[in-house]
Amino acid sequence: MSTPTIQQLPTRDPRRGSRRRALTVPARRSFTLWGVRLPLIAALLGLVLPLSPTAASADGSAQWVPAQQPAQQPAQQPAQQPSQRHASTGSCRAGQVALTFDDGPSPTVTPRVVAMLKRLDVPATFFMVGERVAAFPATARLVEQSGFLVANHSYHHQDLTTLSADAVKETIRNTDRELRSAGVHPTDLVRPPYGAVDAGVLGAIRAMGMRSVIWNVDSRDWTGLSTGSIAANVLGQLHAGGNIVLQHDGVNNSPASVAAVPQIVAEARRRGYCFVGLDEAGRPGFPVARTRLRVEPADWIVKEGQRFRIRIGLDRAVGRTTWIRLRLAGQTASIRKDLVPPAVRVRIPAGRMSAVIAVKVRRDDLVEGPESLTVSLSGGQGLLPDDSTATIVIEDRGR
Ligand SMILES: [Zn+2]
Repeated sequence: MSTPTIQQLPTRDPRRGSRRRALTVPARRSFTLWGVRLPLIAALLGLVLPLSPTAASADGSAQWVPAQQPAQQPAQQPAQQPSQRHASTGSCRAGQVALTFDDGPSPTVTPRVVAMLKRLDVPATFFMVGERVAAFPATARLVEQSGFLVANHSYHHQDLTTLSADAVKETIRNTDRELRSAGVHPTDLVRPPYGAVDAGVLGAIRAMGMRSVIWNVDSRDWTGLSTGSIAANVLGQLHAGGNIVLQHDGVNNSPASVAAVPQIVAEARRRGYCFVGLDEAGRPGFPVARTRLRVEPADWIVKEGQRFRIRIGLDRAVGRTTWIRLRLAGQTASIRKDLVPPAVRVRIPAGRMSAVIAVKVRRDDLVEGPESLTVSLSGGQGLLPDDSTATIVIEDRGR
């Protein structure tokens, strides 16, 4: 059996011809390229979005909110710092750049993008098509496990403006389900194919508690441009504040687009841009996860000389390496005398949903009663600590 390629996958929804017009775009034209029709809306939206009423706030944080969507900025947004992994690779003085890759996963292209981004130490978000996730679940999983964010690009790559509100919800829900059954923890971000949106589409997405994300820097990679032209397109559109760059890992010209990434990254960094993912609101940044503290054994009773395990789980993928502070406090136990103290700062690598720390309880020859200590979490980078506390009871060996 031949290796599946992107060309063999189903392409367009034939119903796309009849449409409601996207509100933000006065006219739509389509190109037919290798069986995939892609309208000019991509380029046009890049021009339209900054005109939205929420555009161009001081930090650029609202520029990518579509005009029809009320600006729902969380009151308290944590500072959008680059990840530890990425902090060393340049400041954000010129602005932030969020690379996004659409239409995958592709078993041939996506792993190459992932390897390249890891090598360059650049985060990114992948908007995946549900039917491709169904065909290549391992590739979808690879993206998250490599530390990148995964988001929703509909099931059949439909123009959502041609669908009923219920059908919009269904295609998004099915994609979400497909991602989860592939073992991925998708964000709540949806990128409507072709950037085609109208009030109905935006309303349906919002009603699901999800957020639509378009872009404001269009590589136009799908038009068959050369690597040099793709890089020049992106670099020529970078601007102060937040940049959301559109590229594709699931179209025929994707190899040329992927090859442009090192040039884009090097030059953008030279100009003072840093690279980030997308936060919960679809803005350049990173999602903030809630942590869950679990201690094993479940009865929290451990004998001298044994270990207990502290598991810190995240409720969502955060797209970067992050950390949280572990607090051990002696009640009757002494942390230094009774334990081999664990590292206080627990690192959770990009692409991981949990960290486990094993703590060894020292053995002494004293005969003593049960001692106790508490385990809790605090602070950290991009994580909201679980406020629960576990009380560990250390039983004397002889008892
Ligand atoms: Zn697409």
